[in-house]
Amino acid sequence: MKQKLLLIFLLVVFVLQIPAYQLISYKVKPGDTLYNIARDHGINISTILDFNNINNPRNLRAGSTIVFPQPDGLFYTVKPGDSMAYIAKLFFAPVDRLLAANSMSSRDLIHPGQTIFVPGSIINMYQYIPVSRAYRWPVYGLISSYYGWRTHPISREMSFHSGLDIAAPQGAPIFAAGSGVVTFVGDNGGYGLMVELAHDNGMKTRYAHMSHISVYEGQRVLTGSLIGRIGSTGLSTGPHLHFEVLDSDYRTFDPLGHLPARDLMYVVSTHDQKTSAGGN
Ligand SMILES: [Zn+2]
Repeated sequence: MKQKLLLIFLLVVFVLQIPAYQLISYKVKPGDTLYNIARDHGINISTILDFNNINNPRNLRAGSTIVFPQPDGLFYTVKPGDSMAYIAKLFFAPVDRLLAANSMSSRDLIHPGQTIFVPGSIINMYQYIPVSRAYRWPVYGLISSYYGWRTHPISREMSFHSGLDIAAPQGAPIFAAGSGVVTFVGDNGGYGLMVELAHDNGMKTRYAHMSHISVYEGQRVLTGSLIGRIGSTGLSTGPHLHFEVLDSDYRTFDPLGHLPARDLMYVVSTHDQKTSAGGN
């Protein structure tokens, strides 16, 4: 009898294509912290911050409701021209696992506005953790402006570009280039919504023009963990990440000198890095 019920259940799941995740609405109890909610549900704190607008994570209001997925994971809204293979790359994830998580085959079409679930277990499976360089690529995208003197895209005047611009779709995930502590989150004028990390080697990295911030000040983050989403806030001509590498005196450096070679941006095989695919 039990087996029969299980069979019927599996058939229903298969026919209705019930997604491999659930969205949980959780009512905050007195004494709750982001840490204990994340721990009790087996998810990252950044997952909760990605889904909710929480102004002060240290002061969660009892009685308020927060939303997060089970199991741990992130969502991505399909943009015109996206493919599942491309979305998998944005999350440094294997495309076959992404298709399976969304009950899709490689022939299934996706449409703009559609929501794709990316399980936390597959995010950054293909990230390249550099050995000889300080940082990994914070986002999968196209370099749209290099570090150094340039004609400013908005003022049209010569000015010094203090970071590297990487164009990526609105809402694409931004990952910590290295492990460290969050030293700034918030609106920073022309930088728009910005995150600053202080790394263990004494250097800092900055991530600007975000649409959403998924970390809080004082949070410790690991290499490759989610810190926010791509946007176009502040002085910006379109969705991109402005990525800066600085020393403790806020002197900037060319990020390309601190990142792995571009062909190691996305590593297809974690076992054989010699066969890694192109970065763009
Ligand atoms: Zn820039």
